[in-house]
Amino acid sequence: MILDKLKEATDIHYNKHREGIHVSDITLCPREACFRALEPKDKDGIPIDKTKRATNTDVNFFSSGHAIHEAIQILASYFPEYEIEKEIKHGDIVGHIDLFDKTNHIPIEAKSARKGTMEEPQAHYLKQLEAYMALTNADTGIILVQLLQHFKDKPFVEFYHHMTEEQREATLKQLERDAIQLKSGIMNLMPNLVRHIADDPNLNWKCNYCKWFNPCLAFRKLESLDKPNENAVEEIL
Ligand code: SF4
Repeated sequence: MILDKLKEATDIHYNKHREGIHVSDITLCPREACFRALEPKDKDGIPIDKTKRATNTDVNFFSSGHAIHEAIQILASYFPEYEIEKEIKHGDIVGHIDLFDKTNHIPIEAKSARKGTMEEPQAHYLKQLEAYMALTNADTGIILVQLLQHFKDKPFVEFYHHMTEEQREATLKQLERDAIQLKSGIMNLMPNLVRHIADDPNLNWKCNYCKWFNPCLAFRKLESLDKPNENAVEEIL
């Protein structure tokens, strides 16, 4: 079945070796990125444990996410003021901004949502945009959302977002901390060293789709103890 091949390809794609710590790894759930990096894989990058392989839902997120990115990048390429897929680097941190308005110094992120309306941008859209604003030192950013369940004449919403210099500095410091933690978690084979989002009510919907929910929960229970048993970390992994 072609879908089985696409799921396999999704695993290969997501597990390709990438240099640096990517913005998407540290703005969604850094601990999940650590679990994913440590998961044993075959030579192609496919997890040995079948329960950790890409699902139909993963292919769905991948295809709808890429559709909007690629479409707006094709259309924006007709205007020279937009830089497409702008790469930014800050120490080990690497990011790719969908579009960058060079004239006004504005990063632009394109998203798709399975909704008919949206009053406020979703928290994870903002986290990613704020990271790009901090990394480019931009006081304004834009999120363009395609509403996949809107069947009338307003299927797009555009959100302008502003940050002060202090907010950008704080975001940059958090990114730097997260990048250090993620590197350390991967090097020491210890996801429990890495920040998680389970207690964040705006982001913890991700836990419902997380393939490492059980080990993460076990770590969180361990972290809540006054004196965790050192051997318990190895037992969870
Ligand atoms: S269960 Fe939630 S907090 Fe834990 S690694 Fe997965 S997404 Fe992150």
